[in-house]
Amino acid sequence: MEQTPHDDVVIIGAGIGGLTLALALRERGIDATVLERTAELREVGAAVALSANATTLFRRLGIYDALEEVSWAQTDLVFRDGRTGATLGRTPVGSAYRERFGADYWGVHRADLQRVLSDAVGAERIRLSHHVLDLHEEDDRVLLDLADGSRRSAGIVVGADGARSLLRRWVVGYDDAIYSGRSGFRGIVPTEQLTELPDPRAIQFWIGPTGHLLHYAMGGQGQDVNFLAVSRTPQEWTAEGWVEPARDEEKFLPFAGWHPAVTQMLGAGEVDQRWALMRRPPLSTWHRGRVVLLGDAAHALVPHHGQGANQSIEDTWALAEELAAADPADPTPAFEAYEGRRRLRTRAVQFASWQVAEVLHLPDGPAAEARNAEMATTDYFEDKLAWIHGYDPTVDSGIRPGARVLNR
Ligand SMILES: Cc1cc2nc3c(=O)[nH]c(=O)nc-3n(C[C@H](O)[C@H](O)[C@H](O)COP(=O)(O)OP(=O)(O)OC[C@H]3O[C@@H](n4cnc5c(N)ncnc54)[C@H](O)[C@@H]3O)c2cc1C
Repeated sequence: MEQTPHDDVVIIGAGIGGLTLALALRERGIDATVLERTAELREVGAAVALSANATTLFRRLGIYDALEEVSWAQTDLVFRDGRTGATLGRTPVGSAYRERFGADYWGVHRADLQRVLSDAVGAERIRLSHHVLDLHEEDDRVLLDLADGSRRSAGIVVGADGARSLLRRWVVGYDDAIYSGRSGFRGIVPTEQLTELPDPRAIQFWIGPTGHLLHYAMGGQGQDVNFLAVSRTPQEWTAEGWVEPARDEEKFLPFAGWHPAVTQMLGAGEVDQRWALMRRPPLSTWHRGRVVLLGDAAHALVPHHGQGANQSIEDTWALAEELAAADPADPTPAFEAYEGRRRLRTRAVQFASWQVAEVLHLPDGPAAEARNAEMATTDYFEDKLAWIHGYDPTVDSGIRPGARVLNR
């Protein structure tokens, strides 16, 4: 029987990108199979902030209402001086954001997001404990070797296997991760414990020369706060993996003498790990043979714009559209069309994400003063972030009809 992409697409990785792709493919009549190495869908990194460029797609995929129930729409975007707590800039989110971009800016537990996504995909399409160890191409088929010794074959394979992607290594030929010079500590704290925190239901950046603290409210009632404290140390990453045990003195040192809201949050969170914040250089191609990359596997970025998951979600629409039109005998033109739609966009967001930390961590002096003066007068969603948050992945150009948005 002739193989068609409609029954022959295998997605490696049931993360945010892989599961959303399965839904976007189904929208086009393709029932893909998702292979996931873990025995259960575990939360990777506790929480995620989803902006309108992604949540707008969830509306199209029919899961917006289910997600809205477990998500918190941020009240404001606030920048503060990390040491004094002074407000440097404030832009309302809430209904103004929804009106501008047509969807919400949510904070959500990853476990909740993965549950909604996997329920929508359906357990019968997700194969847990399917750890892909290697792959080969043979006679227009991709052969996947699994950790349990079994082998599967597929006509088209999508590598949605995250920032430490095996499939990216297979496409590129080597591991190209680069330490960004910054590391992070992450935690979740019940909002009611944060007695020192002004604006507990806003997304806030507390900034200074040694690092920054980013936090946002999440859960259906905004009952929890997720934080990421980013430190400029160590300058080099020497540990073997991307995560190492965190000692308290490391966690607090960059924030010593900072505002009590910052130190209270760091002290209240159960933080026992330090994460290396890694980046990867942009690739000139995201595919090899019958394998194509999506999400972090294609364009992992540092989390300072909170865009990794959102970019993975954006990718899914273009890839689903191109795969639906692909010639099963030769998917390369479809892969190239997908890359063509996504490459510049993801590069621009990758680059902007690297730059954010430089701006937030400026040393005290005239440049920091100029930044602060600009923050005081900036409407972030009008002046700085519209090109990211106002992008609509379901519209070919990304420019929402009637939107005043500059897309890169
Ligand atoms: C500290 C930090 C904070 C962040 N905060 C945000 C945020 O607020 N907003 C945002 O948009 N992004 C954020 N991100 C980035 C975001 O987490 C990622 O960009 C996003 O999860 C990428 O989605 P993905 O589907 O590409 O990969 P993942 O979600 O990582 O999923 C990959 C999946 O593939 C599976 N897998 C891996 N290898 C194999 C294999 N060989 N065989 C089978 N399965 C495999 C994994 O188990 C996993 O389930 C943050 C990242 C970090 C490090």
